[in-house]
Order: sequence, then structure tokens, then C-alpha cells
Amino acid sequence: HAKSGEQAYAFFEPSMNALARDHLLLLNDLRQALPRQQLVLHYQPIMRAPDGPMAAAEVLIRWQHPQHGLLLPEAFIADAERAGLIVDIGNWVIDAACRQLRQWLDRGISHMRLAINVSAIQLHYDRLVETLQTAVARHGVEPSRLTLEFTESVAMKDPERSLAILQRLHRLGFRISLDDFGTGYSSLLYLKQLPATELKIDRSFVTEIDQRAHDRTIVSAIIALARQLQMEIVAEGVETPAQKQWLCDLGCTFLQGYLLGVPVPADLLLAEGHPPAGD
Ligand code: C2E
Ligand code: CA
Ligand code: CA
Ligand code: CA
Repeated sequence: HAKSGEQAYAFFEPSMNALARDHLLLLNDLRQALPRQQLVLHYQPIMRAPDGPMAAAEVLIRWQHPQHGLLLPEAFIADAERAGLIVDIGNWVIDAACRQLRQWLDRGISHMRLAINVSAIQLHYDRLVETLQTAVARHGVEPSRLTLEFTESVAMKDPERSLAILQRLHRLGFRISLDDFGTGYSSLLYLKQLPATELKIDRSFVTEIDQRAHDRTIVSAIIALARQLQMEIVAEGVETPAQKQWLCDLGCTFLQGYLLGVPVPADLLLAEGHPPAGD
């Protein structure tokens, strides 16, 4: 038994070590990313269906790595969560997003709102509510201008405590969105109790919506459910006019995806030709 283990180890050793080494190096860099100001925020428009205007923008983190270039969250967010760095990174995202929002408001873009991704780990860190309150107070933005996007996994760990925190945030006026809806743990009972203002239909239901009646049935059911619970519905990953058409026909209220606008740095968001509502 031990021998076959050794053999397996010997067989995998060179590549495993290289992978593990790269991984450790990146993790080490990640610890420095925040103090060295290498993290940046991009913004992707969320448009009112069918043809705008822009209702909000989702805040998406990137890491400008000195050697590897601009890294997407899939390259580092899971590590940041495992290494306990996500709370500091998440706090920075909240503050930087509020600062940017304040700049847009100061420029008279009065209907601007932002959607911020919040990791389940951040939710369970006991200072999330205070961090958010501090950031909105510091930058003078109303909590209702922020939508906090949580995935269904928030319900997995300590559902009662998660629910209590979400209810606190909701009472303070923050909007709550259930991200990637339909892909994870979804207890309908939990959904009923959740103070969510919005459901985001995961891209996996959108990709083939124009080809598969089955996917349309699922999207239609999610929309009916959201409506009954008085939630808004955002479809993510809209890439083609055919997908957009189906989503609008099925009653989706907001659309997000490359068709409507890719994630861009702040200064390009409003230059892209997506003026926010009313301005
Ligand atoms: P998400 O919350 O589901 O965000 C949507 C992702 O889909 C983004 O990827 C976005 O760039 C991408 N996307 C948007 N439109 C389209 C489209 O039409 N087609 C396709 N194929 N993709 C589209 P991104 O920016 O790489 O972010 C990936 C994930 O990383 C996000 O998924 C979110 O879970 C996480 N993330 C991003 N920023 C943050 C952050 O500040 N904090 C935390 N905790 N997580 C973040
Ligand atoms: Ca999201
Ligand atoms: Ca999403
Ligand atoms: Ca998704």
C-alpha cells in the first residue's frame, strides 16, 4: 500500500511540485497585492430590459499582477478565501466601490447604483455590517445604492445566522441579490425567508436559451417564483440578440452580459454609450 503511494507520488512529483510552487508564489504575491495597490475594479452595466437605460453596474475585481498581467478573479479569489485574505480584500472592494460611486454622484450621474459581490466568508466575518455602514457613511452614499450579491452557498454554513445578518443589512436599506441562482444549494424554504430584493439567473441557463425549450422552462419558472416573491430578475451572461429576445419575452426585468456591455475600468463605463437612467 505504502509502496504504491510512493510510486504514485514519484510519478506525479515533478508536475505537482511545479504546480504547488507556482501556486505558493502567487499566494505570496497575493498577500502583497493590496498594500502594493495592484487590485483594481472593473464595472459592467446592468441594463433595464429590453433596451436600457443602465440601472446599475456590477463591481468586478481584477489583479494587475506585475509579471502575469491582468488576472481575473478565478485566478485568485478562491485562494484569497482559503488564505483568509478575502475579508481584507472584500473590505477594500466595498470602500473603493463607494468612493467611485461618490465620484459619479458628484458628477451628476444621480441614478447610479453598484452591485458588489460578497463572499460567504465575508458574511460570516462579524464586522461586515459595520464595514458597510462605515463605507457608506464615509463616502456619503445611501445604502439603497448598493446591491450586495451573495451566492446560494451563504445558506450552507449556519443558515440562521446568515439569515439574521442578511435581515440586518436589508433593514439598513442595502439591496440583497441572490447571485448565480439555480446552480447551488437552493432551499425554497430558505428563499421564502430571505430578504432578497433580486434574483440573478445564472449564465448556464442563458447560454442555450434560444436552442433549448428545457432551459426556457426553467428560466420561466424562476421568473414566476421571483415575481411571486416580489423580487427583481437579472439575467447574466447575455451574449446574443436571440438570448436577449427570449429573456425579455419570458419577463426578465434586467439584463447583463457582453451584448450589453463588457466589464471596463470606471472611466470607460459611462464613455461606452450607456448613460444611466434619467441623465
Ligand atoms: P459573477 O458574480 O457570476 O460575475 C459574473 C462574471 O461573468 C464576471 O466574471 C463577468 O465578467 C462575466 N460575464 C459578464 N457577462 C458575461 C457574458 O456575457 N459572457 C460570459 N461568458 N461571461 C460574462 P469575472 O469578472 O471573471 O468574475 C468571476 C467571479 O468572481 C464573479 O462571478 C464573482 O463570483 C467573483 N468576483 C468578482 N469580483 C469579486 C469581488 O470583488 N469579491 C468577491 N468575493 N468575488 C468577486
Ligand atoms: Ca455577481
Ligand atoms: Ca453571477
Ligand atoms: Ca455566474
